[in-house]
Amino acid sequence: MKQLYIAGTWVPAAGEGTSQTINPFDASPLADLAEAARADVDAAVAAAREAFDAGPWRRSAVTERAALLMRVADLLQRDREQLAHTESLDTGKTLNEARADVDDSTAVFRYYAGIACAHAGRVVDPGRPGVTSRVVHEPVGVCALITPWNYPLLQISWKLAPALAAGNTAVIKPSELTPLSTVALVCLAEEAGAPPGVVNLLLGKGGTVGQALVAHPGVDLISFTGELVTGETIMAAAARGVRRVALELGGKNPNIVFADTDFDTVVDNALTAAFLHSGQVCSAGARLIVQDSLHDSLVAELAARADRIRLGSGLDPDTECGPLISAAHRDKVERYISSALAEGASLAAGGSRPSEPALARGFFLRPTLFAGCRRDMAVVREEVFGPVLTVERFGTEDEAIALGNDTGYGLAGAVWTSDAGRAERVADALRHGTVWINDYHPYLPQAEWGGFGKSGIGRELGPSGLEEYQEKKHIYHNANPAPSGWFSG
Ligand code: NAD
Repeated sequence: MKQLYIAGTWVPAAGEGTSQTINPFDASPLADLAEAARADVDAAVAAAREAFDAGPWRRSAVTERAALLMRVADLLQRDREQLAHTESLDTGKTLNEARADVDDSTAVFRYYAGIACAHAGRVVDPGRPGVTSRVVHEPVGVCALITPWNYPLLQISWKLAPALAAGNTAVIKPSELTPLSTVALVCLAEEAGAPPGVVNLLLGKGGTVGQALVAHPGVDLISFTGELVTGETIMAAAARGVRRVALELGGKNPNIVFADTDFDTVVDNALTAAFLHSGQVCSAGARLIVQDSLHDSLVAELAARADRIRLGSGLDPDTECGPLISAAHRDKVERYISSALAEGASLAAGGSRPSEPALARGFFLRPTLFAGCRRDMAVVREEVFGPVLTVERFGTEDEAIALGNDTGYGLAGAVWTSDAGRAERVADALRHGTVWINDYHPYLPQAEWGGFGKSGIGRELGPSGLEEYQEKKHIYHNANPAPSGWFSG
């Protein structure tokens, strides 16, 4: 039984509630989990509050906090294979993708250990003799860290590393669908020496445990990654008490291809952009926007290649795509496939469940390609979050930019062309938080990640990812106080 971690102790849920996580490959049970009750939420927030208000953590030397982060990073690498195995079983992603997630999480802990010392604040020139003036950075307080199911270890690392580096305390709530790697990470934080109450873990559903956590008046900051509608609910909850909120939400990301790009390279990368982790990636290149003269040959080749993508268990080295996360999520993706057909899109590949008996118990869907798509179709406008790639076509550069920006979201996008000037012009014009030129998906711990528009508020990674967790205080010190002379009587 996976337990809750509150005030430095692993404990069962107060109401003795339990739930189960399953393997999406075959729906077999993976682990029993304690399901937090209201009293556990109160206890976890109280522990984080106590550790923040009374404990030495927030006043500890930043070098000490950085050292803790480095120890967590080392432990992540020590347990790399085991963590990757757990993540693959829980999410369905391939072992190689899960290994990359462990490595990327390690890099994030190392990055924030490295920059924490350099972000203590700054001295400013007050323009007056005898006065010193400085802006110091302080932790915000108790941070609720709420994460989605698609990149569980990575997403909590993006939040926990900077939150701790800045001196905050945390209450973590992973997705009820994939909590196992987060439980493992909390074990590593404990082993690395996180003081009691600094890191707390709640398990359970969003509508109950998550909602109680974000409504709790003891929480100072909510950092959330997940769906747009959940983000809206959380932002409304954060308004009560004017708590700080950071939101990393969905995306509907354009992948723009000009005819002058290398054909084989773009075919390969368009598949990766759309179908990595079965398309369950916030930044997935789900909208392929192709110049007219390349359109037909690209669609034909993509369809042929999509049909050859090997589905299976994430643990099987031959597997290229795993299952979707749940039956309910596959139903949702299938509804988008039906709506695309009803709205007149032309099915070029996939569109159905695989027929292999070995995959029958998992939540599989074949990589699906729709040509003839228009921007008014639901499958083009809304985040499908599955293995569904739509293709739209354009003639001119201006049309490509207009299509790429025609989304309420603004998380990421890419442009493919051998014309460097055009690449820069298009990148400049796209209203998205990340733009790749002649590449798709790489991100760096040292570069900000986040969205324009409905893709969120705030930034993770980079220096801004640390600043989310810092208050800024101006200290103005007059060494020679004297009457101000404003009032004479
Ligand atoms: P979700 O919104 O359903 O759930 C995310 C988390 O919020 C889970 O832990 C869930 O239990 C919790 N939750 C749900 N309702 C809640 C409530 N009312 N109050 C508090 N917590 C609540 O999202 P999901 O289905 O787990 O994840 C998929 C979504 O995440 C996609 O939209 C994807 O684009 C997005 N995502 C974004 C990024 C990014 O960097 N922008 C990264 C990964 C995933």
